[in-house]
Parts: sequence; C-alpha cells; structure tokens
Amino acid sequence: MEGNYAFIGLGAMGYAMASNLRKKMPASSTLYVYDVYQPSSERFASEYSSMGPVVIAKDVKEAAANSKFVVSIVPTAQNVREVYLDATSGLIAAPQDPERLILECSTIDSDSAREVGELLRASRHGHYVDTPVSGGVPAAEAGILSFMIGSKPRSEEDPAPSRISHVLTMLGRPEKFFWCGRLGAGLAAKIANNYISCTSLLVIAEAMAVGVRNGIEPRLLQDVIHNSSGQSFMSDHVNPVPGVVPHAPSSNNWRLGFKTQMMIKDIGLGVNAAKKVGISPTMAEAAIEVWKKAAEDPRCVDRDGSSVWLYINDIKES
Ligand code: NAD
Repeated sequence: MEGNYAFIGLGAMGYAMASNLRKKMPASSTLYVYDVYQPSSERFASEYSSMGPVVIAKDVKEAAANSKFVVSIVPTAQNVREVYLDATSGLIAAPQDPERLILECSTIDSDSAREVGELLRASRHGHYVDTPVSGGVPAAEAGILSFMIGSKPRSEEDPAPSRISHVLTMLGRPEKFFWCGRLGAGLAAKIANNYISCTSLLVIAEAMAVGVRNGIEPRLLQDVIHNSSGQSFMSDHVNPVPGVVPHAPSSNNWRLGFKTQMMIKDIGLGVNAAKKVGISPTMAEAAIEVWKKAAEDPRCVDRDGSSVWLYINDIKES
C-alpha cells in the first residue's frame, strides 16, 4: 500500500517487527523510526537502509507527520500515552489526518487504549486500533505473529479492516488474526491469554523442579508432560529447564524473550481486568507474589521470565 510508514519502539519485539516492515513495504516508501533510546534507531538504520529509505525521526510527531501508517510497540500504558498524547512531541502534535492508520501493539489495559484511541479519532489524528501480539521474539523475527485486533472484521461498507490486514500481513500470519469487534477488545483477549501464560510458566517451573528433585531426568519429564495432560505451549517452547527444549530461552542463557519484570505488568493487567468484572483472580494473585521476588533477583532481571528457574531452585551462577 502506497504511503510512508512510522515505527515507534525498537525493543525486543519492535526491532524485529520493523525489520519485516522495511523488507515488505514498498521499496519507494520511507520508514520513519523512533525510539527514546537513540542507539536502537541508529543500529536499525544502518542495518536496514539497504532495503529502502529509513529516516530516524526526532520524535513521534515528526514520524507521524510524514506517515499514512503508524505502528507502535512500547512497554506500558504510560509510554503509549507519551507516544500519542504528548502535546509537543506526540502524535497528537502532528497535523490532523483522519485517514492515518495507527496500529498499537503494546500489551496495556483496554481502558487506556480506548481513551487514547477515542481521543485520536475524535481529534481527526488517525484511526487508532489496539492490535496486541502473541508469539514472542522468534515469531516477530519470522514475521509470523498472531494479532488480536480491536476492530470488526472485513466488510463491504468499511475499508478500515482491509487496510489493517494489509499492514499486519507484513508482520504476522493472517490465519492468526483475531478480529475482536471493537476498540479495546483485542487487549481484553490478549490479557486473558497472558493470565494463562504468566501463571502457567511458574506452574511448569515448580512442577519441573519437583520432578527433577524426585529423580526424573529433565528431558524425560518434558517428554512425559508433552504427551500427557500437562502439555502446553509454555512447556513446549519456553520450558524453563536449560537443555530440555533447544530453542527455548533457558537453553540460550535466558535470551529475551519476555523480561521477568514485564511479567508483573502483564499479570497485574489480568488481576485488574478480573476484579473489574467480579472475578476473584486467585491464581494470578499467587503468581504475582513470586514474580515480584524474581523481578528483584539479579539472576532474573532483564532476562527472559523463564529464568525464574534460577530463583525457584536458588541456583548459584558461576
Ligand atoms: P522492550 O523493553 O524490549 O522494548 C520497548 C522499547 O520501547 C524500548 O526500545 C524502549 O526504549 C522503547 N520506548 C519506551 N518508551 C518509549 C516512548 N515513549 N517512545 C518511543 N520508544 C519508547 O519491550 P518488548 O519486549 O519489545 O515489549 C514491548 C511490548 O510488547 C510490551 O507491552 C510487552 O508486554 C509486549 N509484548 C512483548 C512480547 C515479548 O515476548 N517480548 C510478546 C508479546 C507482547
């Protein structure tokens, strides 16, 4: 689709997503990139400018002012507000363009997404849609992410979904695009999913520790679980025991992945979402206490969350 693109937030997920965008968007269109950490933008520009024009924007305002499509992925709701609502440097400071498509991929609460999205739509700064992702860094690198989309699916009357689909197809797999109906609903689905993944990773780590300490060889134990009722995506792909799953972060010095500290954010989103609708979040509340301790443990900080294995087993690293 013709027009320039802006990508905001070149972190673990964003860097890989922006690289796919640059490879697949029209070679004649410019990709404006912006991250508060300037060296990430510089590294990106030097690595991908050969695929087509890459411009390091001085802020989001400049990136958006030049773009028909904006994709962002930053850590928290506060960061999303900075990106979009900062009166001097945010997207809201750029010229109005109701046709500008804004795909916001961060995992934040649905209320914040609705608030920011409605404000931008009302002020004619763009069509904002929550499009949180699943699949982690490997899927971002391979361009096979799944997306939970806060929008109605394709229809004759509304051209927006096909524009959304067009951009997301450069980053993910269309058969894994889930159209959740309305602004904020993509995030409602994502938060429910992460309620499971953030609690089950802990359950797996504790269960593996119990089995291993009772004398079962870790790979055999994973094989048993994989072929029994305990099987799950987290156990198969993010198994916390080093050497059990070769592609898992644990087998690669807990390479990111999804940071241990970020677990607290995501499970906190689940706790709040549950309380809002009258569900008692007993599992998530128990898990959050463990994640808080792991997030203060130097063995786990800034590593993949599966490094909780080191905390649970109190493993001394040399
Ligand atoms: P990250 O910390 O690796 O990257 C975030 C990037 O955003 C950093 O480069 C940071 O400098 C930048 N940033 C922060 N505030 C900014 C601002 N105001 N303007 C521009 N850039 C800003 O985080 P990540 O792992 O890439 O995760 C990002 C989001 O994606 C989070 O909401 C996370 O929950 C979600 N997510 C992550 C994964 C994963 O496996 N890492 C999977 C699915 C969803």
